[in-house]
Amino acid sequence: MSADLNRREVLQAAAAAGMAGVLGGKGAAVMPALFVSHGSPMVALETDAYPQAMKAFGESVAPRALVVVSGHWETLNEVRVTASAAPPLIYDFGGFPEPLYRLTYPSPGAPELARDIVARLDAARLTAVADVARGLDHGTWIPLRLAYPAARTPVVQVSLPWGASAADVARMGEALRPLRAEGVLLVGSGGLTHNLRRLAWRDKAAPAEAWAREFDGWVAERLAARDFVGVQSWTSAPHARLAHPTAEHLLPLFFVLGAALPEDRVTPVFEGFHYATLSMRSFALRG
Ligand code: ZN
Repeated sequence: MSADLNRREVLQAAAAAGMAGVLGGKGAAVMPALFVSHGSPMVALETDAYPQAMKAFGESVAPRALVVVSGHWETLNEVRVTASAAPPLIYDFGGFPEPLYRLTYPSPGAPELARDIVARLDAARLTAVADVARGLDHGTWIPLRLAYPAARTPVVQVSLPWGASAADVARMGEALRPLRAEGVLLVGSGGLTHNLRRLAWRDKAAPAEAWAREFDGWVAERLAARDFVGVQSWTSAPHARLAHPTAEHLLPLFFVLGAALPEDRVTPVFEGFHYATLSMRSFALRG
């Protein structure tokens, strides 16, 4: 047990020292790919089943670095990749209790890994640039803070290109898939359903509405059947535009599915609804 902990610490320290990107890959375990429905920012202050599930996932997987696509960063014309050695946090939510704005997550960045990611995306004809100024949005730091509270593992965030299709985002996942074998955990952070106008804000435990369950179930069936290309036709799913008036919270799903390996199984991390319509379905692809 202590040997495992030591190995984990050594790997994390090595990555923090800037060895990510030239991670080498030798001896690194193949990492899962994780889709997380990040929910309300309030999950950062809660201790119930969802944060517990994220914590349990983090304790089961020790990556050398984390690469996250979040629904909260869309960029025009090109994919942007955070390349700061110490990415600041962005508190990109309003009207929440003051303690949320005091939370920190001082994870290191990984500039070399960021440059490696830019090169891999460019090689896949996805124009990408390194961004040394941009920090981590709450779709990135809140779930990572639950899963990896020590904030020792380097984090790189990759933007969604504005107006991207599901297939476009899947190509991003495909381009970065080899990083999984170098100890990098690829994360897509969004929401299986996401319609802020239909949330029961005052009742987190409210029963799920039928339309939200139907859309969530449509996606879950295809995931269970490993029909990852079929999921790309989500606009023909029941209640698709009610579930996603805009696509940005679903698109990170396709980053994860694009990074799938043949031996992967879809492994649940959390299933359930918050506020009547917000599916918190989260899962890992792991061999
Ligand atoms: Zn969000």
